Amino acid sequence: MNNIVAIVGRPNVGKSTFFNRLIQRREAIVDSVSGVTRDRNYGKSEWNGKEFSVIDTGGYIKGSDDIFEGEIRRQVELAIDEADAIIFVVDVEEGITPMDDEVAKLLRKVKKPVILVVNKVDNAMREKDAFEFYNLGLGDYYTISGMSGSGTGELLDKLVEVL
Ligand code: GDP
Ligand code: MG
Repeated sequence: MNNIVAIVGRPNVGKSTFFNRLIQRREAIVDSVSGVTRDRNYGKSEWNGKEFSVIDTGGYIKGSDDIFEGEIRRQVELAIDEADAIIFVVDVEEGITPMDDEVAKLLRKVKKPVILVVNKVDNAMREKDAFEFYNLGLGDYYTISGMSGSGTGELLDKLVEVL
């Protein structure tokens, strides 16, 4: 499988909402991929004529920080191993959490392309709230609303460019 994109981040930031938008009307490939586990969803997508596979991580992770901390780390490390590019989703409503910092720390060491995505930027007012995510040390970011789809076009332009 080529052009694999992994979507990582802590629970409730909107990973699955964005994933579902990406694979709309496309066949899930859950059965045809080796190493599939119940907490990861695989799908196919396409943008500007370029096809890619998408992994949505952390589907079954629920609970408080201390419960899922190890599991998030495992998911991110798996993603780093198998993906060609990583989309790291954070949530502008919540701001930076300790878990986001942990994930950022892992991703700062990665040589593969990492795209930081600030989700839930549903209106222009929230654009300025996104500035704080520069503090994650991952450089520039894309703001999107996975719910409405706004901002996703620019993000996908960038994604297929780095793949
Ligand atoms: P995941 O745990 O990271 O996969 O997050 P989900 O995709 O399950 O979304 C968690 C919650 O955030 C759900 O209630 C979504 O409806 C909500 N959500 C996702 N994207 C957006 C968005 O762009 N804006 C807002 N306001 N809510 C969102
Ligand atoms: Mg999810």
